[in-house]
Amino acid sequence: MNINENDVAALVKAVLDEMTGKTPSAAGAPAVKRAPAQNGAIPKTARVAMLTDLKKFEIKEYPIPEVGDDDILVKVEGCGVCGTDAHEYKVDPFSLIPVVLGHEGTGEIVKMGKNVKTDSAGKPLNLGDKVVTCMIFKDNPDITMFDLNKQNVGGADVYGLLPDDDMHLNGWFSDYILIRGGSTVFNVSDLDLDSRILIEPCAVLVHAVERAKTTNILRFNSRVVVQGCGPIGLICIAVLRTMGIENIVAVDGNDQRLAFAKRMGANETVNFMQHKGIDALTDGVKAAFGGYLADFAFQCTGAPAAHSNIYHFIRNGGGLCELGFFINGGDATINPHFDLCSKEITLVGSWVYTLRDYATTFDFLKRAVAIGLPIKELITHRFSLDEMNEALETNLAQKGLKIAYINKEI
Ligand SMILES: [Zn+2]
Repeated sequence: MNINENDVAALVKAVLDEMTGKTPSAAGAPAVKRAPAQNGAIPKTARVAMLTDLKKFEIKEYPIPEVGDDDILVKVEGCGVCGTDAHEYKVDPFSLIPVVLGHEGTGEIVKMGKNVKTDSAGKPLNLGDKVVTCMIFKDNPDITMFDLNKQNVGGADVYGLLPDDDMHLNGWFSDYILIRGGSTVFNVSDLDLDSRILIEPCAVLVHAVERAKTTNILRFNSRVVVQGCGPIGLICIAVLRTMGIENIVAVDGNDQRLAFAKRMGANETVNFMQHKGIDALTDGVKAAFGGYLADFAFQCTGAPAAHSNIYHFIRNGGGLCELGFFINGGDATINPHFDLCSKEITLVGSWVYTLRDYATTFDFLKRAVAIGLPIKELITHRFSLDEMNEALETNLAQKGLKIAYINKEI
């Protein structure tokens, strides 16, 4: 959409009229806040990559709305492409089209309302600070609590998965986003751009390891199997390493991924392609632990057969965390007698994260970088806003590991 300056003023007025249900008085403030005179002024319009149809992003340009007293205007620096985005791009399971996707984003505060003083953890917020968002508060006391024991944020709204509305700047696949009052926002100015883009997926693993710890089986010297070495499994290994767990065996069918798993902290690797049948594979895992089964296992693939197999790798009295099925991948078969009862396996499921896990993730990333884990190498492909179709196609083709949108104009 091409719009000139006069149209912008008319558009903003129409939008405001619609939002407030009244016409701004003739003597009132102009509809568009005039851009400050200094360099780096805020433009009057922002560009978004709007998913307008299945597998079709279009660049749209909208007026930047008035920043309310509780709102924050953020210039977007980048955003990770998530499996959820790819799912939405391909089949629109949440019926969101038209929608501005992108929920793993980060950027710089360029304007904020007078009521905004601190982030959701109480840290001061100022112009120029780098921020990420998490969920949008509703009036559900369980998810507004900053408490590990409360429910995770799975059912909450997030920017990047909101239906389009009069604001339009609802997702991070854009060059500006308007963070409205009542949203969770964190000041992460002490993390570099790549780390900030990785916060959301890493929070999923910080949460999974917290879930695993509730079994009381995961210990400093535990033998741990991580099955699946996509981004989730690789980050799982990194989280375990930052906790001091070193006896990690990674299982995958791809040698390149297994090599990366070693660099990320796995002690040994097992390529399941080289072991025919579950007994041979179990022997392979056992050999990698020097003749022992695992104390604990993380299942990080979305394949039902992988869920069925993993019980075999775990010792009697061991534990399992299942976190691979972000979408419904179908049913898996287990034998309740052999796999659960007689082995007394403690099983936990894990799903997204709590707000506290999100904040813990900032420290995880600093620690991972400090001990030399190649966490930032997870971002293998970077695309501009005009290349979002290509970015999503790259994700769907399972090329590389983490795909990211980077605002190249910053
Ligand atoms: Zn995500």
